Amino acid sequence: MEKCIIIGSGPAGYTAAIYAARANMNPLLIEGPQLGGQLTTTTEVENFPGYPDGVEPFTMMDDMRRQAERFGTRFRSGEVTCAEFALTAADGKPAVHRLTIDDTDTVEAQTVIIATGASAKYLGISSEEEYRGKGVSACATCDGFFYRGKTVAVVGGGDTACEEAGYLAGLCKKVYMIVRKPYLRATDIMQKRVLENEKIEVLFEHNTLRLTGEGKVQGADLIYRKGEPDEEIRHIDIDGFFLAIGHRPNTEVFKDYIARDAEGYIVSDGFTTRCFAEGGKTVIPGVFAAGDCADPRYRQAIVAAGSGCKAAMEADKYLQTAR
Ligand code: NDP
Repeated sequence: MEKCIIIGSGPAGYTAAIYAARANMNPLLIEGPQLGGQLTTTTEVENFPGYPDGVEPFTMMDDMRRQAERFGTRFRSGEVTCAEFALTAADGKPAVHRLTIDDTDTVEAQTVIIATGASAKYLGISSEEEYRGKGVSACATCDGFFYRGKTVAVVGGGDTACEEAGYLAGLCKKVYMIVRKPYLRATDIMQKRVLENEKIEVLFEHNTLRLTGEGKVQGADLIYRKGEPDEEIRHIDIDGFFLAIGHRPNTEVFKDYIARDAEGYIVSDGFTTRCFAEGGKTVIPGVFAAGDCADPRYRQAIVAAGSGCKAAMEADKYLQTAR
């Protein structure tokens, strides 16, 4: 029986591990399919406090991992493929939760910290893969700085796309927004900001066919009014291509037990990071959510790290009182 299992190896998971290990919970961290989490899909991290010269994401995640290891965290590669959470505990003892790893091994734990993150949605065109890290990004806050004075495109018409376009307009010479509908889905205030920004040109009713360039993104072929009589292929010259078509939280495996919102984000009370059972009313004893899997709004490494700290402190408090 484990005292504490942490699922996920991003900033939330590793920070939870550091705190849980230092609180003598002897945590076991299950690393998941993407070691180091979503951050490792970016090129350089410049906005995480403590790295004044920026840091290569793998280095930062390895630093966090070693810090967690130093205090006794144990690591296990593999993915949680089934989760069974107990809603009640007997005789005031902690509840027992059961996780299956890679469809084979079963582990039991008194507390579980879910830090499985979210994955940015991509369009699914082959050139996205080809230029990943060479001009294709799904995080303007992470990568925008590398495109200072250049021309970029943002795909999407929601609040995230508008926010990213506004952020990039502060750095870049020009920003195209590629919007598949004849209108933006974003809230009025976000739309207004975009439409009034002289550096942003919104290309309504455009879809991306392919990216072009020698070894890096240098342009994009777009299709205007797909399927209409006036359908037309257009080309834009760009240096960066930012996806902002939403994120998908990695929470599917918990769906039978944990309350999730319409997008799949775990419903937690935010303050103590406690999770609610499916249906949204009962708190699941000893189960906490940290980081992007429960955060549709901020999605920043530093915020995820902070919530990992909170989750571990709450898990410790739970074990102290449930005993
Ligand atoms: P949304 O789901 O709101 O918007 C996604 C956008 O991407 C839509 O315009 C959608 O087009 C477009 N899109 C989706 N798939 C494709 C595709 N395959 N090809 C082209 N375009 C595509 O996601 P967001 O991330 O923008 O927002 C998520 C939530 O977070 C929202 O509730 C939002 O309000 C909130 N948010 C709030 C912010 C704030 O308050 N400052 C900032 C950021 C997010 P279509 O409209 O045609 O479906």
